[in-house]
Amino acid sequence: MSEKTLFQKIADKELPSDLVHEDEQCIAFRDIHPAAPTHILVVPRKPIPRPDAIDPEDEALVGHLFTVARQIAAQEGLPDYRLVMNNGEGAGQSVFHIHLHLLAGRAFAWPPG
Ligand code: AMP
Repeated sequence: MSEKTLFQKIADKELPSDLVHEDEQCIAFRDIHPAAPTHILVVPRKPIPRPDAIDPEDEALVGHLFTVARQIAAQEGLPDYRLVMNNGEGAGQSVFHIHLHLLAGRAFAWPPG
């Protein structure tokens, strides 16, 4: 069996996190290096390494990440927010276990840097 990813260790409570949500399919916790006043990562328990590796069978799971992100934004009173999922180092991916960034609380430029 391959070694657990950083985010699996967080999901399994082997590493600490500032958890804001958990259910059978995913967890959400505050980013350790926030890029906005609110920066939360929504992470499936299944360790899909990168968006390119999302299979058709994962479609409902990935949709669930968006539902949870929307619920968290509503709970935190955030009408405007940005959702980002990076694919590959060149796009800024540093943890190879997919995660949806929920960013809010400041103005965001477009296109992103
Ligand atoms: P990405 O660069 O898209 O792969 O995003 C990975 C994110 O995980 C970065 O924003 C990091 O700041 C964040 N991160 C890394 N380690 C931890 C951790 N132990 N707890 C919370 N967030 C983390």
